[in-house]
Amino acid sequence: MTVAFIGNPNCGKTTLFNAYTGANLKVANWPGVTVEKVEGAIDSHGVHIHLVDLPGTYSLTSYTMEEQVSRNFILSDDVDVIIDVVDASALERNLYLTLQLLELGRPVVVALNMMDIVEKRGMEIDLHRLPEMLGVPVIPVSALKRRGLSVLLHAAIHHKDHVHPDRLIHNHSDETHHKHNHHQDFAMVYSDGLEDKIDQLQNMLKSAYPDLFNYRWHALKLLEQDPEITKKFPLEGIERVVDRSYETDIINQKYSFIEEIIQEVVVNQAKRAAATDYADHILTNRWLSIPIFLFVMGVVFFLTFFIGDMLRDYFESAIDILSVYATDGLLSLGADEMLISLVCDGIIAGVGGILTFLPNICILFVTLAVLEDSGYMSRVAFIMNDIMNHLGLSGRAFIPMILGFGCSVPAIMASRALENKTDRYRTMLVTPFMSCSARLPIYILFSGMFFPEHAMVVAYSMYLIGIVVALICLLLLNLFHRQQADNALLIELPEYKRPSSRTVMISVKEKVKDYLSRAGTIIFAASILMWFILNFGPSGYGDMAHSFGAILGRGLVPFFAPIGLGYWQISLALLAGISAKEVVVSSFAVLFDGVNINSTTALATLAASMGQMGFTELNAYCMMLFSLLYIPCAATIATIHAESHSWKWTALSVVFQIAVAWVLTFIVYQTGSRLF
Ligand code: GDP
Ligand code: MG
Repeated sequence: MTVAFIGNPNCGKTTLFNAYTGANLKVANWPGVTVEKVEGAIDSHGVHIHLVDLPGTYSLTSYTMEEQVSRNFILSDDVDVIIDVVDASALERNLYLTLQLLELGRPVVVALNMMDIVEKRGMEIDLHRLPEMLGVPVIPVSALKRRGLSVLLHAAIHHKDHVHPDRLIHNHSDETHHKHNHHQDFAMVYSDGLEDKIDQLQNMLKSAYPDLFNYRWHALKLLEQDPEITKKFPLEGIERVVDRSYETDIINQKYSFIEEIIQEVVVNQAKRAAATDYADHILTNRWLSIPIFLFVMGVVFFLTFFIGDMLRDYFESAIDILSVYATDGLLSLGADEMLISLVCDGIIAGVGGILTFLPNICILFVTLAVLEDSGYMSRVAFIMNDIMNHLGLSGRAFIPMILGFGCSVPAIMASRALENKTDRYRTMLVTPFMSCSARLPIYILFSGMFFPEHAMVVAYSMYLIGIVVALICLLLLNLFHRQQADNALLIELPEYKRPSSRTVMISVKEKVKDYLSRAGTIIFAASILMWFILNFGPSGYGDMAHSFGAILGRGLVPFFAPIGLGYWQISLALLAGISAKEVVVSSFAVLFDGVNINSTTALATLAASMGQMGFTELNAYCMMLFSLLYIPCAATIATIHAESHSWKWTALSVVFQIAVAWVLTFIVYQTGSRLF
């Protein structure tokens, strides 16, 4: 049996899915996070149930990719029961989708989620009257508190073969005016004029397409002039019935019915929590919002550096000890010098070097997850709405960009939630400029070496530059090819809430797992490869200055010299960094003879030897800047290709990123070297 969860964005579908399956999918207190359907399975009440988590959607039109994914899936024969997840604290908005789902003619069970919030606020919902009016079971649950979960599945199993209720009871006040006596058959009954047209269209559909399973729904879609259905089911003489689009009439009448339901079933209208209103008054204030955002990000970095550094000492000693033991162990086994060098100077230096940044990365993940789950991140998208509109984009385009602080891959995927294709492509193009967590080790290493007093400020400046460069690129694109922003599309602001430790832990665990698996695979492989090309050359083993790596790096020097990075070691590290940005740092560890790049003394030596090469603060800053902006990592490039289905576009965006990175670093280096 297959059960699909569908509902508005942010109503708790993923939380519910996780609660059932024990999966650890990303939950966030802002819309547009789940963009692909996710599947899992459980056994319950003696039935094997296949669960599907769908992207959130407000309606079943086919305007965005998310809506298409959801709609096509629930229309297919694969689904046995639809569980409509409804945020009970925002019933009015959520019921619009519910009414559309009821019209599909598939078994629907309503999961009235967030009941804990409803109760806390003293709101009451008539759980007897609501199912009576909708004609489907309504089960109160709380996905977060894990209440009502078993009853919900039980209802779904029970309701599977029971689409049409015996008789619906929703006496409208003016029932007598209807000449159609549909109130017993359908929850949603339209005005006589529309019902006449629906009847006519149903008859036409029945003779033209005898095998269709749901005539009423198709008739309604034809009345709305839904592009997909109109094209798929052409009817002769349809223009006599559908002389215009009746979409607005249908929407308005649905909303009137919703109003009627709310009047009858909601006993104490919940107010938006006063605290949320008060907080929004300040946090989304016209003048304060952006300074507050900058301040919040500043705090994030302060914590990332301050607490992260305190924890890092332990990691550092652990790596040191490991390296000593490995050398001793290998020596006692009689291993030769080359193998010891591979293990210690290659693998432990490279992979271990990356692992020592784990505390900082962890803190960054925790603070970002807390911000997301508290509801603050959706405010950020909201306050950027004005700026984004000026750049010709909808404010929603900023959401993928903020996700980019974590990792560009899911961020680029989240651009699917944008309605308009130009918006999507522009967002995909600039999202990699947002400084992802893999770049953090580069900042920590270089700012630690060259700006020990101001490491945090320097790293923070990278994040700001990332945002500013992305915005400027959008501005230029819009000057080049002007587009009117669809600013009617408002971002919904969820309520602030105390972040759930479970949700934060899931998010952090997944990201840390990701980071570790990169350390164990790509970075591991890159470290070994690096060791090989640095220790072997045309003249054999040993001489790094004449190794294959050095030759390759020297070949790249002319490209990097004008931007202050004309050192073969740096060129080589940046080239290797295309596999994953952390590799820039792990390569450094291998390059400079397996130093523990996180120990303070080693850093000082490394900085000194780089200083002898003529590498100054300015070069270090250029290094960070270029690392921030140049080609996204291999995984991101693959994602851009998967999302755009075009190698041409993928190549174009890679070239674009290099060009932007090179030009900007060039300006900084040339200006800087004249000034200082
Ligand atoms: P989705 O967009 O529908 O997948 O929603 P998510 O599962 O990502 O949840 C959105 C937010 O609502 C998260 O912050 C959840 O922690 C929160 N949430 C989900 N279910 C409940 C619930 O039953 N009670 C409360 N208080 N919060 C919930
Ligand atoms: Mg979700």
